[in-house]
Amino acid sequence: VTSMTRMAAAAGLLLLCSAALAQDATALLNRYEHLTLGAPVAVSNLSIANGAMKISLAEGQAAPVKAGDEVIGLFFKGSGSFDYAADAVELPIAKTNLRNTKSKVTVSGSTIHVNFNDALIAAKNVKLPELTGAAGGALDEAFAENRKVFDNDRSSHLVPRMIEQQLAAPATPLVRADLRGDEEWVYTADREDERLARLYTIDFEDRARRVERYEADIAARPVGRTRNDPRPHDALITNIDYTLVAAEDRDVTATVAETIVPRVDGMHGLTFALVSKLYPEDGKPARHYDVKSVTTADGAAVPFARGDGWLSVTLPQPTSAAVPVKLTFSLAGDIIFRPSRDNYWLLEDWYPSLGLYGVAATAHGVVKVKAPFVPMAGGKTIARKTEGDYNVVESRLDEPTLIVAITAGKYWSEEETRGNRTIRASSYGQKNPRAAKKLVALAFDMIGYYEYFLGPFPLDELNIVEMNDFGWGHSPAGMIFITSEAFQPLLGDENQEYSKGVNQRFAHEIAHQYWGNAVRWSGPEEEWICEAFAEYSSALLMKKFKGDGPYSDLLAHWKADARESGALAPIPFANRIVTPNNVDWNRYKLIYGKGPLLLAALNKQVGDETFLTFLKSYQKSFHNKVGTTRDVAGLLGFMTKKDFKPFFEQYYWGTDIPDVK
Ligand SMILES: [Zn+2]
Repeated sequence: VTSMTRMAAAAGLLLLCSAALAQDATALLNRYEHLTLGAPVAVSNLSIANGAMKISLAEGQAAPVKAGDEVIGLFFKGSGSFDYAADAVELPIAKTNLRNTKSKVTVSGSTIHVNFNDALIAAKNVKLPELTGAAGGALDEAFAENRKVFDNDRSSHLVPRMIEQQLAAPATPLVRADLRGDEEWVYTADREDERLARLYTIDFEDRARRVERYEADIAARPVGRTRNDPRPHDALITNIDYTLVAAEDRDVTATVAETIVPRVDGMHGLTFALVSKLYPEDGKPARHYDVKSVTTADGAAVPFARGDGWLSVTLPQPTSAAVPVKLTFSLAGDIIFRPSRDNYWLLEDWYPSLGLYGVAATAHGVVKVKAPFVPMAGGKTIARKTEGDYNVVESRLDEPTLIVAITAGKYWSEEETRGNRTIRASSYGQKNPRAAKKLVALAFDMIGYYEYFLGPFPLDELNIVEMNDFGWGHSPAGMIFITSEAFQPLLGDENQEYSKGVNQRFAHEIAHQYWGNAVRWSGPEEEWICEAFAEYSSALLMKKFKGDGPYSDLLAHWKADARESGALAPIPFANRIVTPNNVDWNRYKLIYGKGPLLLAALNKQVGDETFLTFLKSYQKSFHNKVGTTRDVAGLLGFMTKKDFKPFFEQYYWGTDIPDVK
């Protein structure tokens, strides 16, 4: 070996080390958390254009912003403004949210014009103007003020965006601008989306939290695809294997092994959503959830970075598309919350996820809780036993789900098996065998009818669990959480009030095992695939069970809801509606009201036989897949040889309301 090759080898080694370091999540966090300013200069008439955004820095001073030696952008102080060109389809929701957040900015045509006094503009692979000119005054104070505001933004933050981009796709464009004037604005653009949001605050009881900022989306559009295309994922979580132990009042420890299938080559790391700090009760101290370690399948620890609601992990080697990655997370915290100090709790955000739409996971797990609480999880029960002070359940879910929900409480169960199917109903706080058996029988009946027009029920085992509250239900795979009026319809005034329509709500929740679980949806713009289809299926069931009465009543409700909220936003943007410090049912009225009204209109147009066949074929074609509105229009078109695109343009993407007699 000559000294030359040894040197080359050493140099190669050095290169490898620095490449590895550059992609280390922990090192990236250290770098991006500590930003510094370079030398300020006087600037005038600089402009930055990206996508729909045009920023102009008319007059002021600017300095480069550095993370270590890396220049990541610029900081500007002076008189600046931006123009964002919203498109027609999102103009109604833009105006609604500007009004709801009491914004004073002007919209002319579809252009949103905003003035600002300072801005941090960070950019990767997008050219920012050169900062040349006479030396300017110090900007440190304004920079610190700007950071103080945007560091309190709990909806999104520069640091995890930079880390995510560096780990997953360092060659792709990224822009984030934190802009401050009379109002505070955030603009982000990356390889998938472009988004403009206005910050707002919440009047928390806990005054210290009033510095927190939240984002109201004013405009947001997909990049590199149309609004009809589902959002692409870099990776999908396909299996979750866990042990969860709830020892005391609020404390939980969890070991979660996730199988993650990347869709692209060359990612050096993954960024997960994972709650770190939460406030189940306003005015009470925060609860925390910590990551103790992240290890690979062979037990080696990997570097990770943790922040408010996120976790970035460095992978031992870059991803290859479709080659699964296994990571095991060790987690602990005091995130168990018993509503009103009741004797039950429900955990859903307890494992690292790639967002609601980046999880389609089968699951296997063991849950141990201190007796007398009884644990439950979706799927087939493999074993139930006691170990010392603990009640233990082991279960397995063979159908992919987007939420692995776990609950425990003082529950008493009744179950029945018919053929391959077991349905179990668990009453809260007291034995209630009569009501539990009745619900089980009702569930069998409802499933029987659903199988007629939606196809085979997706699961062999179903848990119906009473929530000690009123007026809601929720259904992750294998579980139906439903409030007390379903179990005790005649007990007390409140129960009687809520029990009106409880059978329909129960039918809606059961329908979610088809809509939302068996067929998933691809993003907040497509939530009606889950909710409106479940609602409409429940209406068809009520029509079968109780005649035309309940169906006409529901139709009248949907019409009223659509009339009330229809102008505020088209259905796909219902989830964007923000009303700070107010309860607002507009989202509900659009997705659960106008949504099923569209299905009623389509049903009327194509006739019962075709419509029921359509629902069944859709379930079959998109079983364990993501359903989209585009595919709804496509399948209806295929079946009837008519073009349904104009219908969806007008009523789904538009704010018009169809006339249904
Ligand atoms: Zn629902």
